[in-house]
Amino acid sequence: MNSRQRTVVVSGSASGMGAATVARLRSDGQQVLGIDRHDAEIVADLSTASGRSVAIDEVRRLAGDSIEGLVTWAGVAGLSDVAGSLLASVNYFGTVELLQGLRPLLAEGDAPSAIAISSNSTTCQPGIPMSLVDMCLDGDEEGARHAADELGALVTYPATKLSLARWVRRNAPGALWAGAGITLNVIVPGAIETPMLQATRDDPTIGKFVDAFPIPVGRTGSPRELSDVVSFLLGPSARFCCGSLFFIDGGTDALIHPDDMPVPM
Ligand code: NAD
Repeated sequence: MNSRQRTVVVSGSASGMGAATVARLRSDGQQVLGIDRHDAEIVADLSTASGRSVAIDEVRRLAGDSIEGLVTWAGVAGLSDVAGSLLASVNYFGTVELLQGLRPLLAEGDAPSAIAISSNSTTCQPGIPMSLVDMCLDGDEEGARHAADELGALVTYPATKLSLARWVRRNAPGALWAGAGITLNVIVPGAIETPMLQATRDDPTIGKFVDAFPIPVGRTGSPRELSDVVSFLLGPSARFCCGSLFFIDGGTDALIHPDDMPVPM
C-alpha cells in the first residue's frame, strides 16, 4: 500500500451523500477536501465561473500538484420554485468545469479516479428536452441557462444529468482520461434518503410522485450505501472500470427498461 495518504476532493460535501462520502473516506484513512457553499474546507459557489475558479485554485493551494480522487456530488434538485438556469449551471457546467479543472492534478496522482453523479431520472422521467442536452454538450452555458429557465427546473433536472452521463461516456475512454491513467465513471442513484429527497417530497407540484415511484427492493436507499460504492470505485479493485454507469436505484431502472441495456451493435 502507498504510504502517502490519498487525497480526494468531494463536491457537495456539506450534506446528504457528499457528507456520507466524506465520513466514509476519512474512516478509510484518506485526506478529504470538501467543496460546498458552506461548512466545507473550500467554500465556493459552483454555479458561477468565478466560484469554480476559486474551488480549483483552493484545491491546488491545499493539495499541491496532485490528487487521487474527485467525486462530484454537488447538485440542485428540480423543484417548482428553483430556476432552471441554476440547475444547468451547477449540475452540468459546474461539474464539468470541476472535472476538467482538476484533471491535471488527477493525472499527477497515484492510481487516480473521478466519479460524476447522474440520476435515474435520466431513464425513468419522461419528456427530457434533448435540445437542452445538446446545448450542454456543446458547452453553450448561456444558451442552456436561457432554455432551462423557459423549460423549468422539473425537466431541466434529468436533462442536466443525462448530459453529464453522456459527457463522461464521451470522455472517459479518451487520451485525457483513460489515456492519462485516470478512471472516470458515473454513479446513477435512484431515491436516496437525503435532504434533497425530502425537499422533493415537500414540493407542492412533484412531491406526490416521489413515493409513488416503484422501487423493487421495497425501500429507498441510504447515503451510506452510496458512500460504499464511492469507496469501491476510488479503490484498487475498480481499476478496470472506465466510463461505466453504476445504477444504484433498488431496481427501478431495470424494472422500467428490462431490455434496453446492453445496447446491441
Ligand atoms: P443534498 O441536497 O443533500 O446535497 C447537495 C449538496 O450540494 C449540498 O450540500 C449543497 O450545498 C451542494 N451544492 C448545491 N449547489 C451548490 C453550488 N452552487 N456550489 C457548491 N455546492 C453546491 O443532495 P443529495 O441528495 O446528497 O444529492 C447529491 C447528488 O446526488 C446531487 O447531484 C443529486 O442531484 C444527486 N442525486 C440525488 C438523488 C436523491 O434521491 N437524493 C437521486 C439521484 C441523484
